[in-house]
Amino acid sequence: MLDASKIRADFPILSRQVNNKPLVYFDNAATSQTPQAVIDSIVDYYSNYNANIHRGVHRLSQEATDKYEMARQKIQAHFNAKHTHEIIFTSGTTHSINLVANGFTSLLEKGDEIIVSALEHHSNIVPWQMLCERTGAILKVIPMNIEGDLEMDAYDMLLSNKTKLVFVNHISNALGTINPIEYIIEKAHEVGAAVLIDGAQACPHVKPDVQALDVDFYVASAHKMCGPTGVGMLYGKEEWLKKLPPYQGGGEMIAEVTFEKTTYADLPHKFEAGTPNICGGIAFGAALDYMNNIGFDNIATYENELLTYATEQLENIEGLKIYGTAKHKTSVISFNLEGIHPYDVGTILDKLGIAVRTGHHCAQPIMDFYCIPGTVRASFAFYNSKAEIDVLVAGIKKAKMMLS
Ligand SMILES: *Cc1c(COP(=O)(O)O)cnc(C)c1O
Repeated sequence: MLDASKIRADFPILSRQVNNKPLVYFDNAATSQTPQAVIDSIVDYYSNYNANIHRGVHRLSQEATDKYEMARQKIQAHFNAKHTHEIIFTSGTTHSINLVANGFTSLLEKGDEIIVSALEHHSNIVPWQMLCERTGAILKVIPMNIEGDLEMDAYDMLLSNKTKLVFVNHISNALGTINPIEYIIEKAHEVGAAVLIDGAQACPHVKPDVQALDVDFYVASAHKMCGPTGVGMLYGKEEWLKKLPPYQGGGEMIAEVTFEKTTYADLPHKFEAGTPNICGGIAFGAALDYMNNIGFDNIATYENELLTYATEQLENIEGLKIYGTAKHKTSVISFNLEGIHPYDVGTILDKLGIAVRTGHHCAQPIMDFYCIPGTVRASFAFYNSKAEIDVLVAGIKKAKMMLS
């Protein structure tokens, strides 16, 4: 079992005040907070062995290289990738998706089809639209229903031998829906399409096994799972990573350069041009250690309790409507108060020290589906508590009184 009060002590930021009130941080779906162990790893890097990697013969460079490559191994183990070189360090989910979308430019032909879902984050829509513009491929969309579930019957109908790629998020950041990715991957493979799963919102809550899923690409950002911003990962099956051309040219990614011809480095370096976020990569590894120490089963059980408790409390508030009521969802609640703009609710909550997100959550098509400008989104992590949910409920009631 998870001891939330003990865990809270690991996060220095959770003891600060906002507007003279204890901070209640419910914007975890945008970015998570950072435990002391991860902060320590960052301080340790810059205090003791800051150096460029893979090039230097000197001691600091070797230490930095060892730690950075050790972090890659931690990521490999965490996601159960077959090979370490199937893990590419990127600056985050957005970068990972663009790397793959760019790589497919030379692999697609006019009339090929790409399937995305109605539940996508903009970072999983725009790169594919740009890819379609470059190649003449056609974008198809798996529709969603009112609960916030994807329509799998419609997905079956969209698939054909023209389908080359399927891109779906594992968990929706706007609604919290857990998508049936096992089914989506299996069906895509039946028609020979490759699948990329956007795991940015899933990785704070679950531990994906890329080999069991048999997924072709899986991407995530460190900053949503207790790590720092500006670093993330791309898992790709070896055969795919070999097939894709490099994304950026520069140092680190070459084997040999002359003005006539350049040959590229082996995986993973082919996709890692330039000096990477060395400290960030190492801190990403420390974040995985921290979360695995707590245990993803414990995290899931506890967060589910928070979700159930918060849903019950919020449903009791008159005029409050929750968007996204899928049976399988994680600890995200998107809601609106009748007749009140989400931004106004968020502003009042901030005055009370409560951090929530308001707006379209980079998922405008979902808001269009519900015919709303946006929602208030409260998203919970394993370091949140029921007492904090009580503060939120009181805050919403206060906002409702002041605004209606
Ligand atoms: C946050 C998020 C992204 C974008 O991640 P970045 O770290 O900003 O690149 C993409 N997809 C989903 C589902 C997300 O939650």
